[in-house]
Amino acid sequence: MIIFFEPEAPEASIAFTEQLASRFPGISPRRHVYQGRSHVVTEVHLIGSTKTVPTEVFEGLPDVARVVRVSTKYRLIGRHDDRSESIGFTYNGVRFDERAVHVFAGLCAVDSPPMVERTFAALQAAGIVTTRAGAYKPRTSPYDFQGLGADCLPWVFEIAGRYGLRVVAMEVTDARHIDEILRALEQSGHATGVMLQVGTRNAQNFELLKQVGQQKTLPVLFKRGMGITLEESLNACEYVASEGNPNIVFCLRGVKTHLGDPHRNLVDFAHVPVIRRQSKLPVCIDPSHSVGGARGAPDGLPDIFHVTGQGLIAGASMVLIDFHPEPEKALCDGPQALRLEQLPRFLSYVRRVREAYEDVTAPGS
Ligand code: PEP
Ligand code: MN
Repeated sequence: MIIFFEPEAPEASIAFTEQLASRFPGISPRRHVYQGRSHVVTEVHLIGSTKTVPTEVFEGLPDVARVVRVSTKYRLIGRHDDRSESIGFTYNGVRFDERAVHVFAGLCAVDSPPMVERTFAALQAAGIVTTRAGAYKPRTSPYDFQGLGADCLPWVFEIAGRYGLRVVAMEVTDARHIDEILRALEQSGHATGVMLQVGTRNAQNFELLKQVGQQKTLPVLFKRGMGITLEESLNACEYVASEGNPNIVFCLRGVKTHLGDPHRNLVDFAHVPVIRRQSKLPVCIDPSHSVGGARGAPDGLPDIFHVTGQGLIAGASMVLIDFHPEPEKALCDGPQALRLEQLPRFLSYVRRVREAYEDVTAPGS
């Protein structure tokens, strides 16, 4: 059971409700506070068997907005009813929620300082403050390039800071990587920030999920498991939130099946509204790993543009996308990287599709 309070509810009302809840045998109240765009939202979750606890006890209390019985296991990230607020957060000066749209354009894998510099300079010129840069790469073959690891972090962060980048999405595959990133950020004088990416291959690596959840400094970009149900992926996000870190973005990146051929994965952006209905998390789409190639349709737009449009028109508010100054030289996923010269057109495309989404969802439209 979740008790939702009115925005800015006074401490006295919340504490009174918690005391009342504790009087029920086997019930312990747990408070969760979220910073919304303009106000603080408090929820009190009743942990334990609430079958015999009547909702009416709490419904009439001062500052209680409503009381909802929870039917899903992912209680923290779940939306539970249409009226609950989305979870948004601000990190390193950048707001993430269902209204703020961000494009994380950048390198699938960090390869060399000149390539990173060229990429970040292009982002700054385009007015972007968010990027992706893989240092730890989970590869199918042990003989493929595994990423430059901790060694590249000092110069990646330094260059990011120089070009005004505020948030770098970076995959971690082991708890050790989190410490390496935190240390390197500190040593760089916090030149930039990092959003920890949990890749599709680690979507059910529960120990890693707990580790990214236990640290509260860096937000988490969770990528849907490519061969598990949506419900299982949502429960994986709950691991992160239940360890104390609610700053999570849910990313769709396609699912593994030959039915997606010739795309690398079957594009699953039809699930954007489903995630938004079932969870309170901002939704990201990754058109690069979904499509896996930079080829286009006869209309001149790469498939990557087209599926980005599908995700945005469905309400996604973040795009994670591979760019490279010279895709043919990329050490990882070059065939799906767009060229830096395509960035302005891509951003204009994103803006226009988002405007269309806002237009068709405006009240009274
Ligand atoms: C990536 O974004 O670099 C990546 C490996 O993605 P995924 O985990 O979705 O395959
Ligand atoms: Mn990749």
